[in-house]
Amino acid sequence: MARQSTRKAAQSKPTAEATVKVEKKVVATKVAKSGATVVESKVEVNKRAVTKRKVDYNEDDDDENAEPDTTEEGEQVDDEPTTKPAPPKKRKTTTSSSKKTDDNMPLASRTPLNTLKLAMKIGAHVSAAGGVQNSITNASNIGANAFALFLKPHRTWNYPPFSPDSPSLFSSLLKTHAYTNPSTTILPHASYLINLAQPDKAKATQAYTSFLDDLQRCDALGISLYNFHPGSTGGLPMPEACARIASHLNKAHKATKSVVTVLENMCGSGNIIGSAFSDLATIISFVDDKSRVGVCIDTCHAFAAGYDLRTPEAYAKTIDEFDKVVGLKYLKAFHLNDSKAPFDSHRDLHENIGQGFLGLRAFHNVVNDERLQNIPMVLETPIEVKGPDGKKKEDKQIWADEIKLLESLIGMDPDSQKFKDLEVELQKKGAAERTRVQEQVDKKAEKDAKKAAPKKKKGAAAATKKKKKKDEEEEACDSCGEESG
Ligand SMILES: [Zn+2]
Ligand SMILES: [Zn+2]
Repeated sequence: MARQSTRKAAQSKPTAEATVKVEKKVVATKVAKSGATVVESKVEVNKRAVTKRKVDYNEDDDDENAEPDTTEEGEQVDDEPTTKPAPPKKRKTTTSSSKKTDDNMPLASRTPLNTLKLAMKIGAHVSAAGGVQNSITNASNIGANAFALFLKPHRTWNYPPFSPDSPSLFSSLLKTHAYTNPSTTILPHASYLINLAQPDKAKATQAYTSFLDDLQRCDALGISLYNFHPGSTGGLPMPEACARIASHLNKAHKATKSVVTVLENMCGSGNIIGSAFSDLATIISFVDDKSRVGVCIDTCHAFAAGYDLRTPEAYAKTIDEFDKVVGLKYLKAFHLNDSKAPFDSHRDLHENIGQGFLGLRAFHNVVNDERLQNIPMVLETPIEVKGPDGKKKEDKQIWADEIKLLESLIGMDPDSQKFKDLEVELQKKGAAERTRVQEQVDKKAEKDAKKAAPKKKKGAAAATKKKKKKDEEEEACDSCGEESG
């Protein structure tokens, strides 16, 4: 949860300014549709500092600390809260009968794909609080052309059953918001509790049951892709763990219609599966129906795992390696996150686009890769800001702006002054966080080096320490992986 606590409300301002021109242009092309009203609503929001609260948690999370975007929903934060003497009052309604869909305030219009030089479908992991169908409105409100959601509360095994109304509500809202090609738009994320590599039989059954339930929900909702973390080996050999995952996948594929199970690359070391592309390839090799399995590359995870994306050359090398080891045909989605932690640090700390160690150029490389058109690209960047009252809130404008920022990079000359200015501005914003995390990483490396020193003298004692360190590392990555999707 530490990942966005230091962000200040004011930080989102320059991004908004930097992208406002792009946004206006896009809106102008959409006037015939709902663009005009969207702009009006946005201005209204910013003027009035409207605050709304979620009142019904029906199908989604009741966990305030859940991430991404599963904290208490509904508060609308704007960019000028410090000018108000009194902070917007939170109205928390407790009546369960009054149902609402998150906040209904459109913050940006969607960019028609055909107005972009490449059909990059960029969006974010939005809330589904109050019912899975609410994710559609939430996605539309931030101008997302793709989105992720949790299909049920993702930090508990005690999830409520699937609501029979969901499929019809879901499909009608898809139509309302003109998401015409859901198969390349929606990428639900699995619960973080699910570990299909789990060697313990009872726990494996529990994981598989929840996994299968999610896939059945996808089938019912007409969702084609489902993203999950491969899991942890539990200290057992990697190939066996991969085989256990694949055997669950094979069973699940037979039990469901068509949803493609999408493995996410990870950044942890030790027992974490999927930090190396070869882990993903091993799992896929054991899957019977190869048309039902795919991969989602998380840019932050890749970078922290030692796959560079920062320069065009490094990006090309990483994607080539993915192609050789796994195969580009399996690439079904992207998670677009910058990294607060340096290259190859095995730390999973998502940062806002352009502000982390990846930097804007990495994302320029991604969104200008024509091979990645028409797949969901989902932001899982921090949007928690401190309100004027000192309390943390979500500012979804950050995602709305990041979507427009990424879209503006498509076709932009990276040698242009415009790009360079953006790059410098965003790096400046993230400088303090980068320094903070770099210091942590350096300190840990120093500690590890000290620990490793007596290793040469005392074999057995050092081995114990090494194992302990490995466990610690795994724990650390497990927990931060949970935070940041
Ligand atoms: Zn991710
Ligand atoms: Zn994830």
